[in-house]
Amino acid sequence: MLKIGGESLMGERPYGIDPQAALDVANNIKQAYTRNVEIAVVIGGGNIFRGLSASKKGIERATADYMGMLATVMNGLALQDSLEQIGVPCRLQSALQMPAVAESFIRRKAIRHMEKGRVVVLAAGTGVPYVTTDTGAALHALELHCDVLMKATKVNGIYDKDPAKHKNARRYSTLTFRDAIEKDDIEVMDTAALAMAKENDMPVLVYKLFEGDNLKNAVLGEDVGTYVGNDVETTLVK
Ligand code: UDP
Repeated sequence: MLKIGGESLMGERPYGIDPQAALDVANNIKQAYTRNVEIAVVIGGGNIFRGLSASKKGIERATADYMGMLATVMNGLALQDSLEQIGVPCRLQSALQMPAVAESFIRRKAIRHMEKGRVVVLAAGTGVPYVTTDTGAALHALELHCDVLMKATKVNGIYDKDPAKHKNARRYSTLTFRDAIEKDDIEVMDTAALAMAKENDMPVLVYKLFEGDNLKNAVLGEDVGTYVGNDVETTLVK
């Protein structure tokens, strides 16, 4: 399960979708896809609309969140289109029913698509407000029996300090769920999503999408990003 934030589709733009960036994301996914792995992608909407920030400006929270979910459907359509352009078979499913533009999310159908070699792009997160697509990714990863939830971020993994501000920041190679949830300076994913992954033993890999062949290398089991799990101790990269 790949969780890709909406901002990855923005490229250099301040807002919205840059078709070239969408193609770049699709090409990254293709590198992993061609290694014979089944892939589901949960796409975010932050490049277009975030419910929480809109609610702070006066739109009722649940309404704003539904607007955010609609943004993820637009991104899902863009990503589906880009994947198809480069020859990766793909189906878009939405947790909000929108039969004219996307299949509705049906768990067994999503699994079947993957078995048939199609990438499944999942839009509208969980389909309910007050959560984000991180939680949608954790939930869908569990119900689709994914092996790992891979969250793409701006830096390659989780660091002990903000690497943008501190030159001596060090990357965690592995991290316990407890540390990922409890350490105040680690804000990598929604706590709800991490808690769900922890309780159900779903490992999370935090990595940078646009850095060399990161996604492919991660799929091949190389040391990429930070692995968060119940089966590891917290260790920094040496
Ligand atoms: N959202 C929601 N329920 C969900 C998933 C998303 O209400 O299950 C809304 C929420 O308002 C969120 C917006 O959709 O801010 C866009 O998703 P997100 O912020 O997760 O996008 P990302 O940061 O991954 O681009």
